Amino acid sequence: MCVGVFALGGCGARAFLHLDRRVLWDDLRVVLGGGGNSTVLLHGSDALVIDPKMLGYTQRLRDEVERDLGRRVRRLILTHAHYDHAGGATDFAWAGAVLVHPNTRARLLANDQGPCDREAPPAPRTRDAFRRSEPVIFDPPHGALLPVCALPFVEVTSEVRLWLGGEEVQVMNLGSGHTDGDLVAYFPDRKLLVAGDLVMNGFRPHIDESSGGSLLHLADTLDRLLGLPFEKVVPGHGDLGGRDVVERQRRYLRALEEDVKRAIAAGAPSEDAVVGEVKLREEFEDLPPIPGDPFEKDVRRMYRELHERGD
Ligand SMILES: [Zn+2]
Repeated sequence: MCVGVFALGGCGARAFLHLDRRVLWDDLRVVLGGGGNSTVLLHGSDALVIDPKMLGYTQRLRDEVERDLGRRVRRLILTHAHYDHAGGATDFAWAGAVLVHPNTRARLLANDQGPCDREAPPAPRTRDAFRRSEPVIFDPPHGALLPVCALPFVEVTSEVRLWLGGEEVQVMNLGSGHTDGDLVAYFPDRKLLVAGDLVMNGFRPHIDESSGGSLLHLADTLDRLLGLPFEKVVPGHGDLGGRDVVERQRRYLRALEEDVKRAIAAGAPSEDAVVGEVKLREEFEDLPPIPGDPFEKDVRRMYRELHERGD
């Protein structure tokens, strides 16, 4: 989602903060809520985590993967830089790779206020605990988080293919939209798409302008996502869904674009006049906005984006 998740109050807070586990396959599960949705792939004695939530909730995710399932998290994928998705990355001292878009890495580094001491990362208390032949009991590094600058980033500009336990995982930037550094993960054998906040389920689409987000870019990116033959999608927030969830988000954005263009073509002389003309279509009335993101804001954004594009 975005900054300010703790300020949600009663509006949608449960959907964002309540943890809910969905075991899709024996070796792949999604932990909904607690910030952004997290996807966990188990392979051998290791695990891949996509979006490790925000600190505080990350610990519970770690407990599940490391203590309950006995796997160590060796790789992370961060779909974008927002704290509710990426904040917990510093809690995975054993991760050998953190896959991010370059803009996400830059933003995480810029936002990190802590000291940067690459020479003294938190050490595990017992390396023996990681011998693969034994049940793994991890000592969580309480208070010993890695500085962001010490994370082993791997930048993904367009596409990287991971092979984990013989399974292909495509990590891709198919365009921006929610921010200017959005990655998705696609599991072709399972026809599963992990979309981050490019897709919301049960909410209207959401962009973060201060992080380079754009409604028009998001619509184009959703077109490309729908070009993948996925059948299930893990949204950034809300429940798991199918292609219809992504199609509806795209439809909202295209309808908004169409309605704003129509108001301009009909002679609305200013941004405020367009805001007065364009109403939320009835078919989207059941979709609440992300808190703090009323429909009028979307109309104003669309108007400005179209103006900047020269439409
Ligand atoms: Zn977000």
